[in-house]
Amino acid sequence: MPGKPWTRNNSILKTLLLIGSAWLWAASAAAAPSDESGEKPLLEALDGEIAPGSLLMGQTRPEATVRLDGRRLRVTPEGHFVFGFGRDAEGLVGLSLKLDEREESHVFRLRERDWPVQKIEGVPQRTVDPPTGETLKRIRRETAAVQAARARESDLRHFLNSFRWPLYGPITGVYGSQRVYNGEPGRPHYGVDIARPAGTPVRAPNAGEVVLAHPNMFYSGGTLIIDHGYGVTSTFIHLKNLKVEKGDKVRKGEVVATVGSSGRATGAHLDWRINWYQTRINPQTLVGDMIKRYRSANNTEGE
Ligand SMILES: [Zn+2]
Repeated sequence: MPGKPWTRNNSILKTLLLIGSAWLWAASAAAAPSDESGEKPLLEALDGEIAPGSLLMGQTRPEATVRLDGRRLRVTPEGHFVFGFGRDAEGLVGLSLKLDEREESHVFRLRERDWPVQKIEGVPQRTVDPPTGETLKRIRRETAAVQAARARESDLRHFLNSFRWPLYGPITGVYGSQRVYNGEPGRPHYGVDIARPAGTPVRAPNAGEVVLAHPNMFYSGGTLIIDHGYGVTSTFIHLKNLKVEKGDKVRKGEVVATVGSSGRATGAHLDWRINWYQTRINPQTLVGDMIKRYRSANNTEGE
């Protein structure tokens, strides 16, 4: 990995050190003065908050090279790119863009976040005790399959379109919370939980291709992963029935599964996750307010 790319200052655009949100930054970028030659900045736009759990989308020239902390990001034929920050991301991040002889560096400070603790009682004890033997082998196999699905490189560009809730209902678990299962501290929660009766349809939050469809994984039960392109995937877990198979192309709003309580769950609910490769994103940052929509949609079978 090369050194810190953002430490190489350039004469075209001074390095920006922004303490605050990307919204503010995006506004200032739009208003940023052109350099002497009258050229636009390479970073034409950046949408999303500079914060843990956030997914950001940028716009540059299609031929530009973009790196996040030295990691090269893929750029679409229209010049879009996407990246995200995990729950525990902190400190400074650097975004560098290069096109021919031009080079631009931007440094951002991630907003700090605290996460709530959520105690969960009554999950099957076998899913809380440390796994051994065949169970451990099974878990490792399943984890590898999930990681491979999230690592997929595709040219789909559905992530550029708006996301919708996969269903509407009361939110009973949020991204980032520290979980305590039957009194044992567990891993943080990475999805948004929506409680609905078993059998309620789950709809694709955006168009994509099914890259994993498993009827019953140890922790996550019925599990579905949809690729929206450029590393952005949706994961749905604890499903009852899967309505699609690996390789299926799905439209936004298409029914892909039904709500269940399979795996490590205490009751019927949908756990929806968004990933940027192996980084977990907060799905709630991509969709609007649930409560208003739930109220207006409550009489129409969760839609
Ligand atoms: Zn959950």
